[in-house]
Amino acid sequence: MSVEYNKENPMPVPTRYFDYEGYWKGIDENKLTLQKCGDCGAWCHQPQPMCPDCHSIERKWEEVSGKGTVYSWVTYHESQEPSFKAPYSVVLVELEEGMRLISNLVDVKPDEIEIGMKVEVVFDKIMDEITLPKFKKV
Ligand SMILES: [Zn+2]
Repeated sequence: MSVEYNKENPMPVPTRYFDYEGYWKGIDENKLTLQKCGDCGAWCHQPQPMCPDCHSIERKWEEVSGKGTVYSWVTYHESQEPSFKAPYSVVLVELEEGMRLISNLVDVKPDEIEIGMKVEVVFDKIMDEITLPKFKKV
């Protein structure tokens, strides 16, 4: 994997907030599952209690393709967080379904990243209880 973690410094781990329940349950099963409005069908990412389009509180979780393109990225040459070893890149991936996710690329050097690069989700088990969705070049 391309993000190298500094094992001497504990890394911050995501909090599994209630609104993200379906997202993390999908990740646990190596599926990228995003929130969709149960009434109008609009995608809602980041997960939230109410649909931003129709204000419905009916929500469901639906697996997405995991395929997309790099919409933007930034490479950190100095680590902002002691548990991440620089250089590392953070990407904004636009999924085929239209939502955008912040993540990391695996096995891609920072100078190889391009806007529009086709990518696909992979699941990186960074610790026993935490798996993160990341993306690889396709
Ligand atoms: Zn809606």
